[in-house]
Amino acid sequence: NFMRIPIIAGNWKMNKTVDEAVAFVKEIKDQLPPAAQLQTALAAPTLCLMPMMHAAAGSPLKLMAENCFYKNAGAYTGETSPFALYQAGIHHVILGHSERRKYFHEDDELINKKVKAALDNGLCPIVCCDDTMGRRIAKDDKVHWVVGRILADLKGLSPNDIRKVTVAYEPSWAIGSGQSADPDQAEEGCYLIRQTISDMYGDAVADDVRILYGGSVTPENTSALMATADIDGVLVGADSLDAKTFLEIVNH
Ligand code: PEP
Repeated sequence: NFMRIPIIAGNWKMNKTVDEAVAFVKEIKDQLPPAAQLQTALAAPTLCLMPMMHAAAGSPLKLMAENCFYKNAGAYTGETSPFALYQAGIHHVILGHSERRKYFHEDDELINKKVKAALDNGLCPIVCCDDTMGRRIAKDDKVHWVVGRILADLKGLSPNDIRKVTVAYEPSWAIGSGQSADPDQAEEGCYLIRQTISDMYGDAVADDVRILYGGSVTPENTSALMATADIDGVLVGADSLDAKTFLEIVNH
């Protein structure tokens, strides 16, 4: 599908100081491909985003928040407003990362609220869909884990909004483990996600939604993963922290 321009996105998590973040952007900004060919993005700690945006001016690099809240303003100490992100020029946000689910107890209902709030404010969310070895929502449940996640996290969106969503398929056992899913396993998960979106919103919509694979992506395994039918890009944790390694993935 010509609408699905491939994406290489880094997720720094809680790493880097403002100075380190700015130095990284300056090092890579003139070496990125045009966005019409391959989109490049970095999710960084909130504190780093504005200085990085200034450093990235004129380059195709997109900056992303790693999380946001579902309210635009109010008494929510410590949270980041999706409205304020958009106004600041940050137009992408990761939602539902497995670390948010694991350490901060975010559930599908909360993530669905965040997805809707992000879209209402003009943000494009990257919604992370984890996957377990068990692959069922509950022991006695017939619903595959990935299907259940997508049904719940992407519930009730307009056909126009769902097209602005990118999904990242991230098997829990592959994140940060050095053990990437092989291309067939990764493709199976991404295919299942696209089928579920098709069941919810129809084939034409599902055809336009970009689906990324994440979990121990390296410069060595990027090409094979991205060559599969349903994987439109990669979400990279550890190997996005070093500028040269990130550029190797971009130029895979
Ligand atoms: C991630 O955090 O989204 C991720 C895929 O991490 P890593 O590449 O380090 O496995």
